[in-house]
Amino acid sequence: NGTINLPELCLVALIGASSSGKTTLAHRLFRPGEVLSSDAFRLLVAGDENALDASNDAFDSLYHVARKRLARGLLTVIDATNVQPDARRRIVELAKEFDVLPVALVLDLPEELLLARHRARPDRPFAARVVSQQMGSLRRSLRKLQAEGFRQMTVLNSEDQVAAAQVTRMP
Ligand code: ATP
Repeated sequence: NGTINLPELCLVALIGASSSGKTTLAHRLFRPGEVLSSDAFRLLVAGDENALDASNDAFDSLYHVARKRLARGLLTVIDATNVQPDARRRIVELAKEFDVLPVALVLDLPEELLLARHRARPDRPFAARVVSQQMGSLRRSLRKLQAEGFRQMTVLNSEDQVAAAQVTRMP
């Protein structure tokens, strides 16, 4: 029925290619301050959310804030593509460091839909093949998530499933 049950304190990794709707969904499901977006941190450190050369500084800053939040016992969402195993390993390690549940929330939507959205976006000036490459990485990743340490995962496969998704929190 689309309900995702989360512990009051956990570390959620959004996983999905560019234009899969990670930021849009995260802001509907979670509270202000809970969602740490790599784009927002690129904007903060470099003045441009597409400044890929600022990714290291952006992620250092994002993880610094994530640690402060987890140390306070606050649920935290990492809004980045997270289609690469290295990116996810860092998230699982962070969850272990604070002994919180690592949760994967995957947006695996049809590639054609993502490419159509990408074409319509003035704010993502990179080539469409980047989206396709990220989709490929995502598809190869899906069956590995459990072994990587994600103890809970939800995979959304359609716009309808994304629209129906709700979060409940258990103490
Ligand atoms: P990026 O990784 O590039 O930041 P993203 O996965 O965070 O992308 P969003 O920024 O949330 O994706 O959305 C990308 C585009 O898709 C936006 O133009 C947004 O309006 C549109 N979009 C997002 N979710 C939906 C949806 N459920 N239905 C229709 N359009 C959507």
